[in-house]
Amino acid sequence: MTSKTIQKLDFEAAKRARLAAECRKALAGCPHKAGTVYVDCLTCAGVGSIRSYQTDDNDFGEWESCPRCCGEIGLLWPELCPCTEPFDKATILEAIADDSRRYQQLAAVADEMEATAKCEDVRDTLAAQMLAKLRNWCETNKTIVLPDLFSLLVLRLLEKGMIQCQRLPSGEVVFTAKGAKEEVCRFPEDPELAPYFDISKVKHLREFAYRKRCFTFAPTPPTKLWDGRVRAETIKIRPLDETEQASGRFMG
Ligand SMILES: [Zn+2]
Ligand SMILES: [Zn+2]
Repeated sequence: MTSKTIQKLDFEAAKRARLAAECRKALAGCPHKAGTVYVDCLTCAGVGSIRSYQTDDNDFGEWESCPRCCGEIGLLWPELCPCTEPFDKATILEAIADDSRRYQQLAAVADEMEATAKCEDVRDTLAAQMLAKLRNWCETNKTIVLPDLFSLLVLRLLEKGMIQCQRLPSGEVVFTAKGAKEEVCRFPEDPELAPYFDISKVKHLREFAYRKRCFTFAPTPPTKLWDGRVRAETIKIRPLDETEQASGRFMG
């Protein structure tokens, strides 16, 4: 091995040790359940069943038992808590290696983690500008004939500081969730939002809260809204998975 390679390895090892120490510190101050929160199943949103879209004769498919909850309604599952969310799989597993009994649930969650894109925080001024733009977009789009659930939910998360701006490895700045899982799972009981609630409409927002997806602004052909306003920008929701960044879905 050359001395350059050894230096690089030392540097990587030091970086890993530093991250693990940061993660241990976050866990020491964690007010949740040893690095986890118990929230709705992401696969079925806690209803115990999922729709199968494979049937030929019915576009809407049929309901079948959730592979995780096996038909049981309202089961809660451990997920990363706001303290452990900023860390990747290897860091979490290294941080808890010496205390495996205490962090059994966290280890199970970390084991299942996929390779999500490594996001970095952006400058405060840029983040503030982006968040103000998002707030404004949701404010102006919160009523399109009927109240728009997506905008209302995003506004609620913004109010609570649960949306942040981060930079993807590609350099692009996107919106990601921060400690929002429990909040999103509480939305169906919210008296202000309950009348408009439709589980299928919040599917992507739920995935956003669980940090499986992020979103950005994207141009759209100018659309005239019911009150005469013209909308030229929409929100694009897409996977936060390194391998799937190209695909996406548009809101509104
Ligand atoms: Zn915590
Ligand atoms: Zn389930």
